[in-house]
Amino acid sequence: MADLLEFDGVRSGYGDLVVLRDVSFSVAESSITVLLGRNGAGKTTLLRTVMGLNALRAGDIRFAGVSLAGDPPYRRGARGIGFVQENKRVFRKRTVEENLLMGLYGVRLSRGETAERLTEAYNRFPVLGERRGQTAGYLSGGQQQMLAIAQALMSHPRLVLLDEPFSGLAPSIVRNVMETVERIRSEEGRTLLVVEQAVDLALEMADTVVVLGVGRVAHVGPADDPGVRGIVEAAYFMGS
Ligand code: ATP
Repeated sequence: MADLLEFDGVRSGYGDLVVLRDVSFSVAESSITVLLGRNGAGKTTLLRTVMGLNALRAGDIRFAGVSLAGDPPYRRGARGIGFVQENKRVFRKRTVEENLLMGLYGVRLSRGETAERLTEAYNRFPVLGERRGQTAGYLSGGQQQMLAIAQALMSHPRLVLLDEPFSGLAPSIVRNVMETVERIRSEEGRTLLVVEQAVDLALEMADTVVVLGVGRVAHVGPADDPGVRGIVEAAYFMGS
């Protein structure tokens, strides 16, 4: 499978703090790649750097073969990258439908096409259809997460970045969200790069696992490799 996203010697951080020193790996098209690493390893920073929210200080990030360096964040969205941030899930005072329509910001569609995208979102998540007129703040945590994912999918991104999609969700809902993520890949052929703290869930869902050590990638390999758990634990406990 061709690579959709390529990190090549990426350096990024905040002010004087360099978090990512030299990060290189690739994400295959139509795969689920999970990024693991202990707290503070820089997983969120990496996703933010893909979106242009943190500056790329050295190296390159290529999407569909084209460098993203110099592209402002909105253009990365228009190129086909969706981002579901952790704990910034929805606009709580807006209705479900208004939240979904915000996912089309900067995308030019006819009225008919817009209606089709909404129908698609409600077919994907029937509970959102039932609650389309309700204020998003009244949804449960799991429903808000589904709304955030549905909003990101409104523009039909080729790549979806998901930051800790299961955090704060009840176990029964986690399963539901995981099945959704798997369907987005298998039925719609989209590519997902997912940051996740829950190692078991991450390995169950992923095709490829990338382990971030200190400033660099400590391991890249198939998620079903029997040795992968030991490698992840070593990176978590020894800070490799
Ligand atoms: P976690 O699993 O805890 O979310 P992470 O691997 O996603 O961790 P990041 O959130 O990317 O890690 O943080 C990497 C480092 O950057 C940490 O040392 C963190 O304290 C620091 N950091 C994060 N956000 C900022 C910020 N806005 N300003 C300064 N430093 C920050």
